[in-house]
Amino acid sequence: MRQHGKLEYGGHAAPQRTCVGCRVRTAKSELLRLVQVEGQVVPDLRGRLSGRGASLHPSLSCLELAERRRAFPRAFRVQGALDVSRVRAHLEGEPRNVM
Ligand SMILES: [Zn+2]
Repeated sequence: MRQHGKLEYGGHAAPQRTCVGCRVRTAKSELLRLVQVEGQVVPDLRGRLSGRGASLHPSLSCLELAERRRAFPRAFRVQGALDVSRVRAHLEGEPRNVM
């Protein structure tokens, strides 16, 4: 997680994040940014919500993996379970599942 800037001079180093579900590193732009608000995990669709974020592929299978691995409490550094129903609703309602 800790980088000291020098990598950015490489020119083609697009920012990457690790999906909290499948743990695959992917271009940040392909991942859904999630933030935690009062015990709920919510999708940060406009990238405007502040605070510690987690990245997830916009897929239900990665969401389920993240839940099974209890990745969200770890990613957000909170104790106990987090409600991911808003994220699930977002993914289920996403009409553009076809890449
Ligand atoms: Zn994933």
